[in-house]
Amino acid sequence: MQEQAIVWRHAGDDIGLVPTMGALHAGHDSLITRARRENQRVVVSVFVNPKQFGPHEDFLKYPRPFDQDRARLEALGVDAIFNPPVDQIYPPAFKTRVDPGPLGEVLEGKSRPGHFGGVLTVVLKLLNLTQPKRAYFGQKDFQQVVLVRQLVRDLALPVRVVVVSTVREPDGLAMSSRNAYLDPAQRRLAPNVRQALTEAARAFTAGETEPAELERLTTDRLAVAPGVEIDYVAVVDETTLSRPQQASPGSVLAVAVKLGSIRLIDNVVLGAERL
Ligand code: AMP
Repeated sequence: MQEQAIVWRHAGDDIGLVPTMGALHAGHDSLITRARRENQRVVVSVFVNPKQFGPHEDFLKYPRPFDQDRARLEALGVDAIFNPPVDQIYPPAFKTRVDPGPLGEVLEGKSRPGHFGGVLTVVLKLLNLTQPKRAYFGQKDFQQVVLVRQLVRDLALPVRVVVVSTVREPDGLAMSSRNAYLDPAQRRLAPNVRQALTEAARAFTAGETEPAELERLTTDRLAVAPGVEIDYVAVVDETTLSRPQQASPGSVLAVAVKLGSIRLIDNVVLGAERL
């Protein structure tokens, strides 16, 4: 992969990397289509990264429909599908781990200790293997974007981070490979997450800027859907992840919930979307 990437770069081609864990859906397509538009070469990595799963998380049962993914990527016209075996990315002698620092310990990081260390370790390795000019990430995983930007800035990586809007089902549910785990009753409840975010974002647009009040509106709206258990609801600054005194355009309202054992995340950028 790295040799091929270097050949492309030497020929003057820009490479766009779209890192994924496979089980591809229209959200991934949107990143790939954007990458296709902006680069001569597009590499999509399909790698279920064991280091970003906790010991009691779904690494073993994470969906891996590789033949379907390959057909989808061929139809999208990507230049390379990078699908390495785990022991090639992490051979027995592998020891290094990227430490995301304090921003890796809040929100998702609090519920998923070690998650972002695993993410940044694999992202750095994938960037080195594929030599992209641009790397594409989804807004749905907003804290991941913040931490990848931090990695690129802190370590002076020669890559541009491009963020792509969240692609949703017609009822508002953010597309996710994990949605496939939802049973029919959970699937009917899941759109409440987006509805709660939308209502709070509308309240912001109507003048409500108290973080606690925006969080309360979200929490109360989610309480209407019994079976949706809140992990966190937080208004945060889009770069520091700290709680602002007052929410302002660009602040992010982020949510994580559990439906049974299935964890879903979503967020809205306040003042940025037509609601
Ligand atoms: P994953 O395969 O879930 O690790 O996701 C790979 C990339 O696709 C990440 O950058 C995600 O943020 C992005 N992504 C996942 N779901 C969506 C979505 N619904 N809309 C846009 N991007 C997404």
